[in-house]
Amino acid sequence: MDPQPVNDFLRRLESTVGAANVLTDDGDLAPYLVDARRRYKGSALCVVRPASTQEVSRILALCHEAGVAVVPQGGNTGMCGGATPHADHTSIVLALGRMNRVREIDPLNGTISVDAGCTLAAVRAAAAAAGQLFPMSLGSEGSCQIGGNIATNAGGTAVLRYGPMRDLVLGIEAVMPDGRIVNAMKALRKDNTGYALKHLFIGSEGTLGVITGAVLKLFASTAADAVALVGLGDIDAALSLLHHMQARAGGRLTNFEVISGGEYELVMKLPKGLHDPLTARHPWVAIVELTDSDPEAALDDELATIVHEAMENGTVQDAVLANSKAQAELIWAIRHSVTEANINAGLSFSHDTSVPVSQVPAFVRDVERRITERFPAALPVFVGHVGDGNIHAVVVVPRDSAEAQDVEATAAAINAVVDEVAISLGGSISAEHGIGRSNRARLRAYLDPADLALMRDIKGLFDPKGLMNPGVLF
Ligand SMILES: Cc1cc2nc3c(=O)[nH]c(=O)nc-3n(C[C@H](O)[C@H](O)[C@H](O)COP(=O)(O)OP(=O)(O)OC[C@H]3O[C@@H](n4cnc5c(N)ncnc54)[C@H](O)[C@@H]3O)c2cc1C
Repeated sequence: MDPQPVNDFLRRLESTVGAANVLTDDGDLAPYLVDARRRYKGSALCVVRPASTQEVSRILALCHEAGVAVVPQGGNTGMCGGATPHADHTSIVLALGRMNRVREIDPLNGTISVDAGCTLAAVRAAAAAAGQLFPMSLGSEGSCQIGGNIATNAGGTAVLRYGPMRDLVLGIEAVMPDGRIVNAMKALRKDNTGYALKHLFIGSEGTLGVITGAVLKLFASTAADAVALVGLGDIDAALSLLHHMQARAGGRLTNFEVISGGEYELVMKLPKGLHDPLTARHPWVAIVELTDSDPEAALDDELATIVHEAMENGTVQDAVLANSKAQAELIWAIRHSVTEANINAGLSFSHDTSVPVSQVPAFVRDVERRITERFPAALPVFVGHVGDGNIHAVVVVPRDSAEAQDVEATAAAINAVVDEVAISLGGSISAEHGIGRSNRARLRAYLDPADLALMRDIKGLFDPKGLMNPGVLF
């Protein structure tokens, strides 16, 4: 756009949201133009910060009329560069952070209605204040927003019990690229009235419209919990333990995370010096957690019995049960230090694969073998939410190795190996992080061409001018 039309366009945005909420100074724009992993740096005409759905509607109508692209941005914690604009200085960033109102809590219906710009932590806190639980929990929950969680169909550690975002959303409000408002803020658990439009917005990564509100499911709050760290001989033992725990604890099994021995070692090497609660190192460890809404539930005893049974039958080699909240936090600190450990260890290439739970051992073994054969300097390690088949294969290469010199080429070669194994086992190349900008080529290789064409048709129907988050997904 020429300077004069740009200035006119900016003035019209200012008259919609107020001059203070149209950012154009380089310093103000900077945090919105870089992704969480610092892999993408973009440029934008401005950042606009609306305070209501009506304002979003007017902004999108203006952009539609002027042919300006829109990049919706929540907490900017996404892993795939999906909230970062192109560097060509033709789009605006629409930052939802001012839309942070909890609209309504209905305890008897078990629902909370919120603005899309509420942080996940704020929604969890509002639910807790009402004596209920919103179960999604991510390492980024202080910053990431409900709109971003929905747009990425986020997962996290509690998917095993409560499902991903797609299972937690009852209703959605969204603004179409031309400014029309889709009001599907239904607080219903049953609603068979044609196509469920909300499901198109869930996982759409800002390519179909802007999510402005949602009705989310609440659950009984957790009043008792028990955590254990167990040592395992191999990944098959992890699956046996999972199966055993599901049979014995049923729905109380809330978390089942696995960490390979190599990854565990990297965490323990961190300069911050985490305490290793186990007496010896093991090829794999699992962090398991039971929770219950009954404060009288004797979960420590139940977990001790289940783990003891698994030791007796040879599934578990070693175990520590947390005997206090502080000790449980120490165990979880190991899991939450994985990303830091990988950065500390070298250049890491991580993957967000899911496979059928029964295929996790085959995935791990095949990736390990193929990566070691092809990249002798590389260390393949694994961490994941094995209860839902989501296993992150991380390939760490020393910064001074040949592989580290051409990062793009190495990433493509490693991705190809991991994706090939995943696809051969009926898996997916993206379990919970999405496609964004980083994984577009991989999506093309993964999806059936007919599915991809249908997706493009849907995109064209919602966004015929191609203004919503161009370059993401497609
Ligand atoms: C430390 C850390 C831990 C993490 N752990 C997990 C994890 O365990 N599981 C997991 O799934 N993810 C995890 N993530 C990734 C990230 O937090 C999630 O993808 C999260 O859902 C992104 O939310 P956000 O608000 O930050 O979205 P953003 O990063 O701002 O945006 C992500 C995508 O959603 C779109 N978008 C954002 N808001 C809207 C909206 N209102 N309407 C339409 N489109 C929108 C953007 O355009 C972009 O395409 C983690 C990230 C970090 C940094």
